[in-house]
Amino acid sequence: MSNTKYIFVTGGVTSSLGKGIISASLAKLLQARGYKVTIQKLDPYINVDPGTLNPYEHGECYVTEDGAETDLDLGHYERFLGTPTSQENNVTTGRIYQSVIEKERRGDYLGKTVQVIPHITDEIKNRIRLVGKKYNYNIVITEIGGTVGDIESLPYIESVRQLKWDLGPTNCLVIHLTLVPYLPTSGELKTKPTQHSVKMLQEAGIQPDVLVLRTQKKLTEDVRNKVALFCNVERSSVIESIDASTIYEVPLLMQKEKLDETVLHKLKLPANRKPELGPWKKFLKRLVFPKHEVHIGLVGKYVELHDAYKSISESFTHAGAANECRVNLQYIHSEHITEENVDEKLGHLDGILVAPGFGSRGIEGKIIAAGYARKHNIPFLGICLGMQCAVVEFARNVLGYKEANSTEMNRRTPYPVIDLMEEQKGVTVKGGTMRLGAYPCRINKKSRIYKAYQIELVNERHRHRYEFNNKYLQDFEKAGMKAVGFNPDTNLVEIMEIPEHRWFVGVQFHPEYRSTVLKPHPVFVDFVKAAIGLSEEKQRKKDHAQIKKTEKI
Ligand code: GLN
Repeated sequence: MSNTKYIFVTGGVTSSLGKGIISASLAKLLQARGYKVTIQKLDPYINVDPGTLNPYEHGECYVTEDGAETDLDLGHYERFLGTPTSQENNVTTGRIYQSVIEKERRGDYLGKTVQVIPHITDEIKNRIRLVGKKYNYNIVITEIGGTVGDIESLPYIESVRQLKWDLGPTNCLVIHLTLVPYLPTSGELKTKPTQHSVKMLQEAGIQPDVLVLRTQKKLTEDVRNKVALFCNVERSSVIESIDASTIYEVPLLMQKEKLDETVLHKLKLPANRKPELGPWKKFLKRLVFPKHEVHIGLVGKYVELHDAYKSISESFTHAGAANECRVNLQYIHSEHITEENVDEKLGHLDGILVAPGFGSRGIEGKIIAAGYARKHNIPFLGICLGMQCAVVEFARNVLGYKEANSTEMNRRTPYPVIDLMEEQKGVTVKGGTMRLGAYPCRINKKSRIYKAYQIELVNERHRHRYEFNNKYLQDFEKAGMKAVGFNPDTNLVEIMEIPEHRWFVGVQFHPEYRSTVLKPHPVFVDFVKAAIGLSEEKQRKKDHAQIKKTEKI
């Protein structure tokens, strides 16, 4: 038997309490003490993965190195831990049922009635234990999606109950995250919702070992004692999780509350080595006390829901800190951008990012935004569809191919400058069939982007079906837009740039999936640097104009 220890994180009272951040913060503290830790997310919905979900439903779809389309919490896990996750780190009810049904058809259960208990719960338990065994982790933290009491998460809760029994108390523990609301009218913090939610877990046969209480205000001793007594946990196992100004402060707050020590003590693991958090604290200091400030516009069509662009906004946080710069990210709806209002919408920005996406809604606004950045020498980063928009814009307005387009938007365009990849042509099934995951990209040493990366061969993650049409490459290069990164095996264009421009880069891949707190992504770092350059130049011009004005007086 492997000696991996398992921690389960459940949530109660309401969703969106930040189970992912608590899990990632605890994992960070344990990792910083020298433990090999990973985090897994179990999602109770029937989709086999979130790849087919609209971002409005579920936020961003995060892509792992091995090409799994996963929940956005995996992004937090990677950003906090700096270690890659994989397909095994995200399991949905759909995937569980799919494999049980496949086994049934194969005859693995021949003669038996296949049921939620034991077959579905056994499959869930196997998926949980597989992660620990396969990669030899000391500790696996498994976050159960949804809220305790939801019908759809019942099989997960039952699996946790069984695993607790199978593994024994020192090998497994349950952390339950709840909310302690503050009622301004009575000036009190209320523990009743927590008590109810713990009762619900107890009804399912689980006594939580640790309670993490989300709160706006500091918990009083009274509240802590009350929760401990009525929820049947030790006083030291009641942990406060107060609202933080940045998610990256949460590991330090959890350390203050001794969450890591409590957990290690319960799991009978040594806690003598103090967490090594020096670089993390250094990052936080740069984040909280910036020297510069820039305004960057994120042009996309899902902007009403910021979670749809989670990895991009976090990448800016990392790259901002690396540059000691506050990045004010402004979400701009591409459907609202027109030739007439573009100056008013984008004119004040120090950088413009055109976001990834699918389908034609809002596409013309994205193309206009790319053109605006090109013509006004504003630092520009186009990611995936954003890069494709920059290519279409260049074709239409520099090459004069008026109706140029991606065949995703117009199948009959006379100038298909972006076209469906050859390998995609026979694909009819939508789920999990894009070009997904990490592929190599060779960078031209003479390019600007090489200066950012400082290496020739990089590996970046993908999620797309369309690509730059190499038939037009010569035309683009002659007119000043150059392909400076290629897949060495297939020649697929991975990076386009305009050398004459201050900073104009389009990438077919998604750099945002690889940016972490301690390793900010070079493309974002360099983009923010260029934005600082423009912002300072604008300031110098303003100062100059001011001096001239004063001289006249
Ligand atoms: N829709 C485009 C494609 O499939 C871009 C995808 C994306 O931005 N992730 O190629």
